[in-house]
Amino acid sequence: MDALVKGMAKEEALLVVGLVDTEAVQRAKSAHDTYPTASAALGRVMSGALLLSSLLKGGQKVMLQVAGDGPLAGVVAEADWAGRVRGYVKKPHVHLGPKDGKLDVGRAIGKGFLNVIKDLGLREYYRGTVPLQTGEIAMDLAYYLNTSEQFPAAVSLGVYVDTDNSVKAAGGFLVHPLPGASEGAIEYLENRLKGIRPVSAMILDGMGTREIMEEAVGLPVDIREEKAVLYHCPCTRDRVLDAIVALGKAEIEDLIRTRETTSIECRFCRKSYAVSLSELRLLLINAYSDPAEK
Ligand SMILES: [Zn+2]
Repeated sequence: MDALVKGMAKEEALLVVGLVDTEAVQRAKSAHDTYPTASAALGRVMSGALLLSSLLKGGQKVMLQVAGDGPLAGVVAEADWAGRVRGYVKKPHVHLGPKDGKLDVGRAIGKGFLNVIKDLGLREYYRGTVPLQTGEIAMDLAYYLNTSEQFPAAVSLGVYVDTDNSVKAAGGFLVHPLPGASEGAIEYLENRLKGIRPVSAMILDGMGTREIMEEAVGLPVDIREEKAVLYHCPCTRDRVLDAIVALGKAEIEDLIRTRETTSIECRFCRKSYAVSLSELRLLLINAYSDPAEK
């Protein structure tokens, strides 16, 4: 059962977030037909977005965009305050040989940037960018939180893809020392996390969110908030039409010139929307004609 859980260590001022999102990542894998390395990258970015979403308030959402020069070309995931997540990878048919027995996500992503875009319900979006440190995602996210948000945190993410290419485990955890955490506690935590096994291995062993959180900090945890996680795409025909308008005038004219009808696919869920030529012409007139010429 997929879940995103937030809690506090019982004897130390540590915020702990635990996540199991195996089903959501498997849904994404099926929707996008990703090969194993691409599945692992997509799963890690989705899981990272979910971990960050646990820090949001009602109505808010967060998007992670990973842009790299590796064969995946880029990975995007968005999660909202309610535990809904969606994502896609630009080149889904990527599989590289393993590195140290793990899927080589770092090489598949390559060098580049992590962009974090938050819709906090304000007039403008919050945006933060950091250069990728390893492309393995967890460390990149921790680096982003530390440098861009002054939010020191340890982040771990894990996806296990089986020999039949299905996603058998996906999840993660985040630990953030709150003001008041003792120096000793932080040092203990750093040492503990160095030797901790992958979250995917914990999930394969049947551990749930609470066990993952307690394994991460080595202490009992008080659960404060628990949500179900769901792969969900809120796309509608209108939003897809908006996306066509955003392509620009020349692109739309090109579509009209080269096609009888056209269908536009949502990048997040691959649902296809048919758009007729007359609709395209109408979009063009409404969005791009000079009012003085009407
Ligand atoms: Zn969609």
